[in-house]
Amino acid sequence: MPLEIVTVPCLSDNYAFLMRDGASGTAALVDAPEAAPIRAALDARGWSLDLILITHHHGDHIEGVEELRAAHGAQVVGAKADAHRLPPLDRAVSEGDEVAVGESRGRVLDVSGHTIGHIAYHFADDRAVFSADSLMALGCGRVFEGTHAMMWESLSKFRAMDPETLVCSGHEYTEANARFCLTIEPDNADLQARAAAVKAARARGEATVPSRLSEELATNSFLRACEPALKAAIGMEGADDAAVFAEVRRRKDRF
Ligand code: ZN
Ligand code: FE
Repeated sequence: MPLEIVTVPCLSDNYAFLMRDGASGTAALVDAPEAAPIRAALDARGWSLDLILITHHHGDHIEGVEELRAAHGAQVVGAKADAHRLPPLDRAVSEGDEVAVGESRGRVLDVSGHTIGHIAYHFADDRAVFSADSLMALGCGRVFEGTHAMMWESLSKFRAMDPETLVCSGHEYTEANARFCLTIEPDNADLQARAAAVKAARARGEATVPSRLSEELATNSFLRACEPALKAAIGMEGADDAAVFAEVRRRKDRF
């Protein structure tokens, strides 16, 4: 039975995700920007909450953890490397560890860069990855704590996944990201089409997250730093992938 995934808009532009394994009825939450909309989403479906999977320490991803833990008795999982600045963890995990949601299995990936200790949860059999502020729709998180080389290494982990993977990321920043990516690869036809679709979706008030990894591979300037076409577009033919990523990220910081 496939993992059911529900996107829960929180705060002004955050997304939390609920997932439920239908066979066992086990449900997990990825990130808790605030409790109220998540409790409402659970109540509307009559779901319990067994697990809270934290991606990183920023307040807009953990503010609701304690209320949800208290209300539902959920077990809280987060990065061992971040345990000192996360709500108390019932389980501290590192790269390669497995998280079970009923019969579904997620693997923990270290995707440091935005913060040191940022993790993603990859449910390979279900073709879903919960990436929060690492890989985003047409973007990636700002590099606050790590290095550009570290963030590029993190993004490379997503490049290796099945292109059909659903990328469940943490924010609705896609429209602005699309405008930026068009400054990097103005002639990328897939990007032009996606930017138009994103603009139309936002005008209708629709979410543009989650997205498909295949779309990100074709259009996301950060994830495409190793592509000869992108390097050529910014006059960095033959340059090192991480150096190209760093240049794209610096341009976005000034955008
Ligand atoms: Zn963040
Ligand atoms: Fe965030």
